[in-house]
Amino acid sequence: MLSCVGYAATAADAPLKPFAFDRRDTGPDDVRIDILYCGVCHSDLHQARNEWQNTIYPCVPGHEIVGRVAETGPSVTRFKAGDMVGVGCMVDSCRECTSCRDGLEQYCETGFVATYNGEDRHGRGITFGGYSRAIVVDQSFVLRVPDTLDPAAASPLLCAGITTWSPLRHWKVGPGQRVGIVGLGGLGHMGVKFARALGAEVVLFTTSPGKVTDGLRLGAHEVVLSKDAGAMAKERGRFDFILDAVAAEHDINAYLDLLRRDGTMVQVGAPEQPLPVSVFSLLMKRRSFAGSLIGGIPETQEMLDFCGRHNITADIEMIRMDEIETAYARMLRSDVKYRFVIDMATMPQAA
Ligand SMILES: [Zn+2]
Ligand SMILES: [Zn+2]
Repeated sequence: MLSCVGYAATAADAPLKPFAFDRRDTGPDDVRIDILYCGVCHSDLHQARNEWQNTIYPCVPGHEIVGRVAETGPSVTRFKAGDMVGVGCMVDSCRECTSCRDGLEQYCETGFVATYNGEDRHGRGITFGGYSRAIVVDQSFVLRVPDTLDPAAASPLLCAGITTWSPLRHWKVGPGQRVGIVGLGGLGHMGVKFARALGAEVVLFTTSPGKVTDGLRLGAHEVVLSKDAGAMAKERGRFDFILDAVAAEHDINAYLDLLRRDGTMVQVGAPEQPLPVSVFSLLMKRRSFAGSLIGGIPETQEMLDFCGRHNITADIEMIRMDEIETAYARMLRSDVKYRFVIDMATMPQAA
């Protein structure tokens, strides 16, 4: 076993602190990764604070992992020591159901194994995530990170990136389409970059006048302030596709009205309470309202390769491991442009 140090929450109301634990030995199909960077996802905070009422403590969050391969098992063919690799939200799945066979492991019918707070299929209890020095993962759930990308700025691609990429690809967003992105945060800023790079005409919707300049810099052709009723009215019926990345309570019907006939709006932000949907708005123009969860392993690799070709990464703020609680507090105020990333060199050597 590999002794490892991470940062863990030990209770819903306790700050994260150093935590010593073991990783499994590198098995035949395993890749052992020395973690260099880990992005800070809003899910990390929900889980650490038990806001979904399913956290098992101690909890080591982190599922936007980038690092170098330190060791590979004898059956590993696709990776070798020294490779830059990534691990996202999943570390295993059943691999037999139709979703797994289709490369959509996030919809595994028996449930995928989450990178942290998941039930380990190697008989080791609960999985521990990327706020740690190292991780051991089956090669089927390890991604290649193009060498041309800054590895720190690439780490948010593993969750924020794929969460926005997957629906844009599934609904075939591309040239000739007018695409709306709702909300400019960790997810939304990736949505803007991807939709632009895929050739769509991109409109960002935000409540913050302070984000207009950034929206344009990140690739939006236009920015609409969603509190401006006049500006919203002008956009009615003009969109082929809208990606809604807002997790807070908000009026989705204001956006459904912006879709043209047969347009689709996809929710990737996850508000806690059910949202009222105007069925009239859907049926008058045969509109669709859908959801989408992260993305499968093949499409995550496709996204990373696309990012390599187009030089796309997240806009990040690097933090030290011991700054995580401050980062969480700032995240709650949406005070981050646009993702915190932990420099794992700042992880203590011992707990
Ligand atoms: Zn995430
Ligand atoms: Zn499955």
